[in-house]
Amino acid sequence: MELPRALFQPPDDRDGDGREGLILRCTECGGELGYLRAEGVLFCARSRLRFPITEDGIPVMLIDEAERLDQAAVDALVARLP
Ligand SMILES: [Zn+2]
Repeated sequence: MELPRALFQPPDDRDGDGREGLILRCTECGGELGYLRAEGVLFCARSRLRFPITEDGIPVMLIDEAERLDQAAVDALVARLP
């Protein structure tokens, strides 16, 4: 399956923050995603969506497959971001 190009930023460190490589964006609003590595949680605070990650570690960015969180759940996840 080919992923939509719009999901990715080019790997050229355009914003100069020293991070290079591909960055996943929310497929609903285009915003940056929060990621809790230890728990394998990938979410968008703005859209209140949690995107599933397969057993192989592949994020599933389909909105139909995402879980819509309530605001309290989002706040709890944001509070745990590094
Ligand atoms: Zn979003």
